[in-house]
Formats: sequence, C-alpha cells, structure tokens
Amino acid sequence: MPAVMQAQVDDIIEGHVSTLAMNAINLFVALCILTFNHGLQLPALVWLALALSILVLRRISVNYLRGRQVAVQKPQSALFFMSLGAAASGLCWAALPFLVDNFAPLGSDAALVILLGGLAAGSVVKQIGYTPLALVFSLPILSSIIFSLVRIGEWPEYLLAGCLAMLIYVFVRRSLWTERMFVSNQLARLEATALADSLTRANNDILRQNTRLEALANRDTLTGLANRMFFNGHLSGDIARAVVVNEQVVLLIIDVDRFKSINDTLGHSAGDTLLCDIGNRLRDTITDGSLIARLGGDEFAVVVTGERAMERARNHANRVLLASRDAIRCGASNSVIGLSIGLAAYPDHGANAEELLACADMALYDAKRLGRRQMREFNPDLKRDAERQRIIEQDLEKAIESGAVTAWFQPQINLATRDIAGFEALVRWQHPQLGFVSPPEIVTAAGVVHLSDRLTARIAADVCLLSKRLPELGIKGVTVALNVSPREFALYSVADMLERVTGEHGVDPSLIEIEITEEAILDPEIAGEQLKRLETAGYKLAVDDFGMGHSSLAYLISLKIDRLKIDRSFAQDVARFETNQKLISALVSLGESLSLDIIIEGVETAEDAAILARLGCTTAQGYLFARPMPVKQLEDWIAEHQTKTPLKRKTSHLSVAAP
Ligand code: C2E
Ligand code: CA
Ligand code: CA
Repeated sequence: MPAVMQAQVDDIIEGHVSTLAMNAINLFVALCILTFNHGLQLPALVWLALALSILVLRRISVNYLRGRQVAVQKPQSALFFMSLGAAASGLCWAALPFLVDNFAPLGSDAALVILLGGLAAGSVVKQIGYTPLALVFSLPILSSIIFSLVRIGEWPEYLLAGCLAMLIYVFVRRSLWTERMFVSNQLARLEATALADSLTRANNDILRQNTRLEALANRDTLTGLANRMFFNGHLSGDIARAVVVNEQVVLLIIDVDRFKSINDTLGHSAGDTLLCDIGNRLRDTITDGSLIARLGGDEFAVVVTGERAMERARNHANRVLLASRDAIRCGASNSVIGLSIGLAAYPDHGANAEELLACADMALYDAKRLGRRQMREFNPDLKRDAERQRIIEQDLEKAIESGAVTAWFQPQINLATRDIAGFEALVRWQHPQLGFVSPPEIVTAAGVVHLSDRLTARIAADVCLLSKRLPELGIKGVTVALNVSPREFALYSVADMLERVTGEHGVDPSLIEIEITEEAILDPEIAGEQLKRLETAGYKLAVDDFGMGHSSLAYLISLKIDRLKIDRSFAQDVARFETNQKLISALVSLGESLSLDIIIEGVETAEDAAILARLGCTTAQGYLFARPMPVKQLEDWIAEHQTKTPLKRKTSHLSVAAP
C-alpha cells in the first residue's frame, strides 16, 4: 500500500541524520580501538574513508529522494535506495574484523566485537518499520563476527558464534514483528485520518447547510426582508430587552390597499413584482436599522426600538406613505398603490408581542375603515370596537336561529294620495349585552362568519310573512322590499335562496322588491346573471342609494330595473337647498324617460315632503311618515293610518300625517 510505504520512508528519513551521525562516531571509535590494539594501519584508514564516504552518499541520496518527491511519488524506489545505502554501510562494518591479520574477537578486540554487535542490535531495536533495511545492515555485521569467531577454531568462540547465530534468528523475528506492528499502526492511523477527514467534511457540510437553512428560515424569499418567524422572535426579544432598559418598542403594520384585486387582475407575477418594489421602498425609506419584515401576503411590519422610538416610527410611517405616491410598475402599466399603516407601542398599548400585533392590526383596520392611505395609531376605543365586533360575530348565528335577529318594517307612502305604497324590511337586533346592533354591523359580521345567506333568508322569511298578512290588513298589491348587500352575490346564490324562501311561503315574487346598492350593479360578472334570473322570476328590482354611485345607465336599462331609490342625502333639507331640488328634478326626469319608478327616502319634514311632491316624486319613505317598527306595531300603525288617510286626502294632498 503506497500510503504505508510512504510512512515507512518518512520514518526512516526522520531518524536518518542521527543514524548517520552515530555511525560516523562509531567509525572513529572503532578506528581508535583498532589503532590502539594493532597500531595505525593503512587498510583501516582506507576503510574509514570508504565508510564515511558511504555515509555522505547516503545523506546526499536521501536529500535527492526528498527533493525530487521520489519519497512521495515512488516510495518503493526510495525504500530500495535507502536499503542499498544501509547494506553498503553494513558491509563496511562487516569488513572491520578483516582489516587486521590477528583479529582476536574474544581477546584484545572484544571491544570491537561488542561495538559491532551493538550496532547490529541498535539497527533492529531502533524499530525501523521496514525489515529489509534493518536486516541488510545488521546481518552482514553479525555474519562477519560469527565468521571471525569460527575462524579461531576454539570451543568458546564456537559457543559464542552459536549464540550469535541464535541472536540473528531473534533479530530477524524481532525485526519482522516490528514491521508488522508499524504497518498495522500506520493502517489504523490512516483509517483514523480518513475518518477524521470525512467527519470534518461532513461537519463542514452540515455547517454550510445550517447557515443556508438559517438564512432561508429567517428571510422572506420574495423580498429578501425578514420573514414572519424571524420577526416574531425579534419582536419578543426587543420587548424582553425593553422591559429591562425601560424603553418603548413601536410596531408598524403596513398593508397594501386592494392588493387582492391587483393580483387578480394583473396576475401573480405582477403582484410579486409589486411586493418586491414595496420591500425595496421600505428598505430605502427606513434606514435607521429598524427591523423590516414581510409577514405574508401583502402585509409588512417595521419594529422601531431605542431612543425616541415613537417619534422615529411616526416619521417612518409618514415617509413610507409619501414614498408610496410614486408610481410602481405593475405588469405592463404603471400604477400608484395605496398603503395603510397601523401603529402600536409597548408598553402603552400591549404588554407582549401578541398583544402589540393585535393592537397594530386594529389600528390598521381603522386606517382602512377611514378611507385608507393613512396611518392610524392604536387607541383603547379600537379595542372596544374590536371586542364588540367579536361578540357580534360570536353570537350572530344563535341570534338568527332564535329569532333575536328579525326584520322591522318602514312604510313607503304615495305623496299624492297618502296611501301606503309599500314597505322596506330593515334588520334589527337588540343584543342582551351590547344593546342595539346596527344593520351595517350585523351585515359585516355575517359576511365574516359566513352567515350572509342565513341572515338574508331570515329577513326574506319575515318579508314573506308580512306580504301574506297585508291583504288581511286591507292592503293589497304593494311590495315589501328586502335589502341585499352587493357582496352577497359573490358569496352564494341569492336567486336560489329567494326562490326557495318565497316558494316555501307561497308568496308571489312580484310582491317582493330587492334593493341593491349601485355597487352590485357595477360588477356585472358576479351579480348580472343572478339579477337577470330574479327579474325573470318576477321579483321587482330597485337600485338603492341612487345618486351616490356610478351605475352605467345602459346597464341599468339592460337589467330591467323597476325602481330608483334616491339617496336620503338628497332629501334632507331639500326645501332649503336649491341645488338638491335641481338634482332631484333631474333624477325624476331621468326615471320618467327610462320608465323607472322613483322613490325618495329620508324624508323628515312636511316642508321637504311638499317640495318633493312638487318636484314630481311620487313615493317617499322617512321618519315623517313612520320609523321602522316591528310587525306587531306596524299592524297598529296600518290600522291607524287607514282610518286617518281618507280624511287627510280630502283636505290637502300636500299636508302630511305626523309619524
Ligand atoms: P338603507 O337601505 O338605505 O335603509 C334606510 C336607512 O335609513 C335605514 O337605516 C332607516 O332606518 C333609515 N331611515 C329611514 N328613514 C329615515 C329618515 O327619515 N331619516 C334618517 N336619517 N334615516 C332614515 P337602518 O335601518 O339603520 O339601515 C341602515 C342600512 O343598513 C340600510 O340602509 C341598508 O343598507 C342596511 N340594511 C338594513 N337592513 C338590512 C338587511 O336586512 N340586509 C342588508 N343587506 N342590509 C340591510
Ligand atoms: Ca334600502
Ligand atoms: Ca337607501
């Protein structure tokens, strides 16, 4: 195995200088002893010169092998050459007993024999991991001693020669054992090194993966901002720190107005580009090291800590709103997007991250409610409102089931004859804890908790009951109106529900009027098909709050709308405002030319009613005639009205009864 051979080469080279040095010293010692015993002799000097030259050559060759990388690239050749050098030295030493004629191994030259034996033993004991090298050095020396002993031909010498022969046997075995040990040690070392290397590699891999995963886990991949997980940890950490240092932590939640419709109309990639752009603007605007994160969807957050945190957060919010006024590239076109921002602060508004987030969310919701594109700060009223909304949402289902949510009815009056022209159903709910819950609150909550269909079905059922009861009260052929909020058409099939409810009660659809605000009519995709079905089934259709929206006239005509209900803002104080009179007059002529009935709501004074009648309004609704009331009360009102009206009609058709 090359790696083991390399280790053998290294082992030899490591002790090479000291080996050669010991050899050289021993050469001089041997020469001294020899000269002392036999006098200075020329062969001994030649021997010394030759042996030293061999040592020098061995040293040079090792340097050469190392310099040429032979030791690394061809360790087998290196071992061969080094063994050759050792053999040359061994042979030199083996020549020592033959340098003089009368060498006496057990006599005067015993010291030299001991020296030679020591050298041979030393080479083996040094535990060189390569047997051939130890043996090629020691065997010639030991053989030469044996030979010099046997040459004497006496018993003691024979005995010693025998002992030395056994010693050779021991040396060979010892040497082979040493090599085996060395090789197995080296193999174990190599295995351990390989294992350590692979562990280091695996460890480095894990560290790299960890760093990557950590980055992925903390970053939002789309915008490169911090993600929700990192934000949560950061906010909690900031609050924990603020508790100790008694500081403020201010949280801004930023939301893109109507992002969903941008995404739906321009596509998701345009939506993504928009979010990236907003992320960049936030980065460019907020440069004081505050944490900027994308919490998901179109929601971003900024956490401001340190000195004057509140003042800095307000500045950030204002600058962000300002920066959002520049157009953003959205798909193929440039659009200006609106941002709404909610602000909440620790410890003033919330005691922990969760509370702070909830407060900032409430402030954001308030900003949206107040018309978007603005920043709102949290205040305790918002919490009360949110809590109220939560209770409404929580209790609505039971209230619909139990009949606590019910319809009240407001009469509609023919301005010329004072006859009852119809009724409008308006939802009512007296909550045991909250008191009166307004219709918009009920309708919004129903949308949130997916009860819109059940709410409208409940009111529709009340409408049917009244419609069936009216003939018994002496009123025939008048409509009862039901409000349907525009968004409901997208949530469920209003047409199916109404068909079912009126079918169950056996009510003629032509006696039911459906009031929809202009918004619904603006979205023909969603509401158009259902309105057509309702119209075909015979229901009357009315456009509620007319004059406030932007309905296309062509579309109104195509839908075969029966009635326009002029918004109550036009009726109020109409007697005093000439512009309102002109507007109403125009709307009346528009209705006439389109063959549409006109009804005006919110009539509160007799004076206004008189003007409206003069302007051509035929039907009206308002506190002047009656407030919305429960069915029982309505029955009494109808009875009373029936007795009063004929009298009034005779006197003047412009004077009206008090509500
Ligand atoms: P709306 O459809 O425009 O209903 C007329 C609103 O004007 C009613 O408010 C009524 O009480 C009020 N009103 C009637 N006469 C006068 C008056 O002379 N002066 C003034 N200032 N107000 C008058 P209400 O009942 O609070 O309903 C508010 C809105 O809630 C309704 O406006 C309607 O859009 C919605 N709504 C009411 N009931 C329902 C319902 O069952 N379903 C749906 N989807 N919406 C409903
Ligand atoms: Ca209405
Ligand atoms: Ca209205």
